[in-house]
Amino acid sequence: MAKVILKARKARPFWFGHPWVFSGAIDRVRGQVADGDVVELMDDAGRLIGEGFWNSKSQISVRLVALKGEGTLDAALLLKRLDLALSMREDVLRLPEVANSFRLVHSEGDGIPGLIVDKVGKVLVLQLSCFGLTRFLEPIVQRLVERCAPVAIVERESRTATEEEGMTRTGGVLYGSLPPGPMEVTEYGVTWLCDPMEGQKTGWYSDQRENRRLMAPFARGREVLDAFSYVGGFGLRMALEGATHVTCVDSSEPALELGRIAAEKAGVQEQMTFEKANVLRMLDHCHQEKRSFDVIVLDPPKFVHRRGDIERGLALYHETNAKAFRVLRDGGVLFTHSCSQHVPDSSFDEMVAAAAKSVGVRAQEFFRGSQAPDHPVMLPLEESRYLKARGLRIQHSGMDTEIAPRIPQSQPSAE
Ligand code: SAH
Repeated sequence: MAKVILKARKARPFWFGHPWVFSGAIDRVRGQVADGDVVELMDDAGRLIGEGFWNSKSQISVRLVALKGEGTLDAALLLKRLDLALSMREDVLRLPEVANSFRLVHSEGDGIPGLIVDKVGKVLVLQLSCFGLTRFLEPIVQRLVERCAPVAIVERESRTATEEEGMTRTGGVLYGSLPPGPMEVTEYGVTWLCDPMEGQKTGWYSDQRENRRLMAPFARGREVLDAFSYVGGFGLRMALEGATHVTCVDSSEPALELGRIAAEKAGVQEQMTFEKANVLRMLDHCHQEKRSFDVIVLDPPKFVHRRGDIERGLALYHETNAKAFRVLRDGGVLFTHSCSQHVPDSSFDEMVAAAAKSVGVRAQEFFRGSQAPDHPVMLPLEESRYLKARGLRIQHSGMDTEIAPRIPQSQPSAE
């Protein structure tokens, strides 16, 4: 097995189990190594730290998987981690009691870097973003079949993998056969429809499950805008909780159509409208036409894909949030989110504060959340705490906005 030797003073995070070894930390590689191989990671004094997957095409040259003493990085070790991940959802979180769809494996958060498995009804949707793992796909799929008895396991192409790992995975059916038509997703008694092969990511955003549940009661008796609604994750739950009206806005017509059908099935179609639009333009129109809301949910797609994009992404978050604040009624509530792992909590909070100030809004945070617990955080990896959720009550205070940061005028690309 090849040995990857770190530069002096670069080993500290890896002794704590941080899993990402960037090329800049590496001094040299001893032995023959091909992309996807298992390698030993050593500090500059030649001490073994652990084993990981090598990929020269990725910025992350080694993904550290097994620390010294945990055993060799092989199928048995990965399957043990997989079993632990499944039992966490069943025995600790008891998710099957409240939902039919949730995340079974959350990459680093479950000790299997680069593997995501979502249960969407009776189908499992898998994404791979670590080249080395492709060699273990067969035993992983087999174990998932044995433990979860799905009707199908499908793979979705991962954008991260294609762009950053230099792997081309086209996706497809790995096991069984996909039932035709949209899938029913249930969480805490509410049922939505989604399409795991055509929809966004793996078809369903289970990371927002707890936020949807906790935020919905604030919508009772209120007029709501669910911006970046997808199939109506927040909006449908809020309509069922007694929102007077919910407007769902998304750029994807197929997602909105599934939202319409789910609203009808739930009997709340009179309370809901679904509009295809670019959220930023729609918020501008609302401002121009003096259309306002009591509650706005902002759940945009990832605006920051890599570290180099942070500034541009924060500008876009700022613009989106400022425009939302502007069309909230006095005393209204903004539920704002970011799923960009590279944006730290502190930067997000600073951005929200600046956005409020820029439009003369005084904001009080009364809700603070993150991703649902089936997306566990890997402790040494702060980036794995990726979802930021805030609830803010606002007042249009008349404060001076002259020296506040202005709303930048970028235009987002609709996904
Ligand atoms: N809130 C949803 C998840 C939102 S995912 C839930 O609870 O399930 C982000 C959504 O934003 C996607 O559905 C995508 O189609 C949409 N989107 C991306 N860019 C957009 C834009 N500029 N305007 C409107 N929708 C956009």
